[in-house]
Amino acid sequence: MANIRFHPNYDLLRHYACGELESPSSIMLNAHLEFCPHCRQKLASIEAEQASQLEKSEPVPLSPSLNAMMMDIMAQEAVDIPVPDKAPACQLALEDKAYSLPSILQQHNDKIGPWSRLPGNIKRAQVDVCGDSQMNFIYMDSNSALPEHTHQGQEITLVLAGEFYDESGTYQPGDFIVQTKEHKHLPRTRDGQDCLCLTLLNAPLHFTSGLATLLNPFSQLFFRH
Ligand SMILES: [Zn+2]
Repeated sequence: MANIRFHPNYDLLRHYACGELESPSSIMLNAHLEFCPHCRQKLASIEAEQASQLEKSEPVPLSPSLNAMMMDIMAQEAVDIPVPDKAPACQLALEDKAYSLPSILQQHNDKIGPWSRLPGNIKRAQVDVCGDSQMNFIYMDSNSALPEHTHQGQEITLVLAGEFYDESGTYQPGDFIVQTKEHKHLPRTRDGQDCLCLTLLNAPLHFTSGLATLLNPFSQLFFRH
């Protein structure tokens, strides 16, 4: 997708390549990679670099019994894994709409909870992932806004469909936006343009402006089960 302008940074990709990311973060990253040839290429070069470093280190000889086992495995014929009659659900339904999910989320389809309504014309469906962080699908109808807020921890947003914008720009499918304590923003959608995102929070949001500060007790809703 040519329009992606926001990508995970090099460190995040490197941690991903090393298998060092917690599973919710790696789900976010994996879903971005499905959208983004640019980052897939970057990841491939990180992996190639890691492989060449491995080659430089001393090879560990296989023990005779392990060697025999390997030979045995290599000699086995490939067996097709039967495809289930009913294809796994690969779409996320919301009222009359259906969105195709990135592959990594198709595998977690059973962990996606029902939609609930939040203020500001926003809907949310939780994804039950392990760990302390909170993953949500957030659907913003056209002309809706999430009150201005800061982040007490880190928020990763991946746009899946449609677009939203804030003070820093417009975000489109595939965009991977990382926000921390320093960022304050007011995400909103334009007239006639809705948006579906996947977000990962590791602490509740903190609403900052005017009446919205009254929502702070309520910000737990964006976070807690
Ligand atoms: Zn990318």
